[in-house]
Amino acid sequence: MIIRKAVYLISSPSVDKCPKADRAEYAFIGRSNVGKSSLINMLCNNSKLAKTSAAPGKTQSINHFTVASSRSEKGAVSNWYLVDLPGYGYAKVAQQKRRSWGQMIENYLRKRDNLINLFVLIDSRHEPQEIDLEFVNSLGEWQIPFTLVFTKADKSKPGRVQANVKAFLDSMLQTWQFLPQSVITSATTKQGREELLQILDESNVR
Ligand code: GDP
Repeated sequence: MIIRKAVYLISSPSVDKCPKADRAEYAFIGRSNVGKSSLINMLCNNSKLAKTSAAPGKTQSINHFTVASSRSEKGAVSNWYLVDLPGYGYAKVAQQKRRSWGQMIENYLRKRDNLINLFVLIDSRHEPQEIDLEFVNSLGEWQIPFTLVFTKADKSKPGRVQANVKAFLDSMLQTWQFLPQSVITSATTKQGREELLQILDESNVR
């Protein structure tokens, strides 16, 4: 799949204020500082698209981007939405605010009819974190299709990344019968880019 164009459209405070659900939508979520902006930029080949934020936890809205892609240089163009969701689990944010973000994200995930797949970003440098496991368990409860995206793979030795990925999947197996698709990525080396594009391509857009 070739990304032809990706443009920022709008930031919405809630699912009810989001643009009309008239095309396929793919969303990205993860802990603050997991490397979400960098991954979106890497995927779209545009270093300035999603702001790589210096202050973690700042993005509090549902951010829509319009993307045009095709299977080949001259192939038919598909238009879809890419959504950058607010990061969860930022310790310095007041509990009250964290709860309202949680509610906003839950509403978005459960109500957005055109959402095809959610990409859940996990930092590959760390052992499984309770907050990420809790989040994926909620996705199971809400029946939201998702892909696990392990980020920043260039930052650790490959053996460490593999061990952390395996530990995460093993933890999931305590409650899950089937494991979701997972991809190991790096925004720095572009590792995993083709695999992510392939997943987007297979699930709907081209
Ligand atoms: P966000 O808060 O999840 O959007 O995270 P950012 O994309 O802003 O990244 C947080 C920090 O991690 C920034 O300093 C990035 O430069 C760095 N970072 C993100 N992805 C990678 C990666 O794949 N490799 C390396 N080495 N650093 C990364």
